[in-house]
Amino acid sequence: MSLTNSPRLLLTIEEARAAVIAGGRAVSVVEYLPLARARGRILARDLVSPCALPVFDHSAMDGYAFAGEAPEYTIVARIAAGAVADVRLQPGQAVRIFTGAPVPSGAAAVAMQENVTVLGDKIRLNQLVPPGGNIRHTGEDVASGALLIPGGRAIDGRHVGLAAAAGLSHVPVLRQLRVALVSTGDELVAPGLGLSPGQIYDCNRPMLAAALERPALELVDFGILPDRRADIANFFATAGETFDLIVTTGGASVGDEDFLAAALSAAGGAIDVARVAIRPGKPFTYGRIGGASVAILPGNPFAAFVAALLFVRPMIEKALGLPVPNFAPLPARAGFAQMRAPGRVEFLPARVQHRSEDGLPVIERLGRGGSARLQPLIAADGLAVIHPGENPVAEGDGVGYLPFGAAFSL
Ligand code: AMP
Ligand code: MG
Repeated sequence: MSLTNSPRLLLTIEEARAAVIAGGRAVSVVEYLPLARARGRILARDLVSPCALPVFDHSAMDGYAFAGEAPEYTIVARIAAGAVADVRLQPGQAVRIFTGAPVPSGAAAVAMQENVTVLGDKIRLNQLVPPGGNIRHTGEDVASGALLIPGGRAIDGRHVGLAAAAGLSHVPVLRQLRVALVSTGDELVAPGLGLSPGQIYDCNRPMLAAALERPALELVDFGILPDRRADIANFFATAGETFDLIVTTGGASVGDEDFLAAALSAAGGAIDVARVAIRPGKPFTYGRIGGASVAILPGNPFAAFVAALLFVRPMIEKALGLPVPNFAPLPARAGFAQMRAPGRVEFLPARVQHRSEDGLPVIERLGRGGSARLQPLIAADGLAVIHPGENPVAEGDGVGYLPFGAAFSL
């Protein structure tokens, strides 16, 4: 067994994830964006409310604001939403009022119009209304100067709505993470062009672009680089000056035609992770150059998918200051039998078949597996995670399951 193939030299998933998370720099530059362009960007700091919410005491109902306790109340004014409440109610007086209109001072509560009998310019209440009833009070949701939205998360429609309610037109967000994406391989051709003998379509770049794209990052597509070390080294040197994260596929293993790690070193970069104990995805390499983290993914498409899921996602989350979910497959049972990959954690496209008697999902393996095949992923709802061990996996054995979903998807 050659040293380079020794499983003992492979990092575990956890070790490799710890290294990629520790190595990356977090974005700290802040910019102010109008609310209409803020969705998906990372709120850079806590927002405090510049005003109270509600802004003023207002009616929650169409009805009558009244003062004091009386058998009948005299209607002295009419206040619609947007009007000014320039009356001071005396006991025995009421105002016609509408939802959203300011409640005049002196008012005890608002009676819903459905519970009021109108007698000319007087009203009678048909139901008791507790003090403050149907009034939304100043600051009862958020006091002026109180925390409005905690920072550090991606902005969505809820945050936009609340910020707007507090009168904020712009919000501080982290500048976009700058991500460079490139495929390498002399055999690769962009989809849409003709194939000559020996050529295949580059699917990794479109796949990773689609999977990684989000408003918080700016993804720049560098196309396909040839299998030439000097060209790749030049690319690393240049991209390292501008980007936070460089993602490459192909040429990641240790064959004669695999130049990526050598090119990164030649360009002056450092390598922190060289190969991980997983199948597929073993050649995953992580390094740094200039201000950039570098994820060198294998060329086989399913291997690139798995490595992106396990390592590129946490790199992005870390760089954006987001929580990084642990690698924590759910307990499940195998609905299949198969050999284990010696010394490596294996990932297979899978889906839940049914629940076992003990309540665990029983998962079905899809397709024939293999690092080059993407097609089985289409029917999958997640990945089976099979740890190395003495005996082959038998039907009903405990295995791991990573469902695609919020915490773990591309
Ligand atoms: P490599 O990692 O460069 O040794 O490539 C491993 C396998 O993946 C080879 O069969 C390549 O042709 C294939 N491959 C590499 N890059 C891509 C890509 N971007 N799209 C599709 N297949 C690829
Ligand atoms: Mg190649």
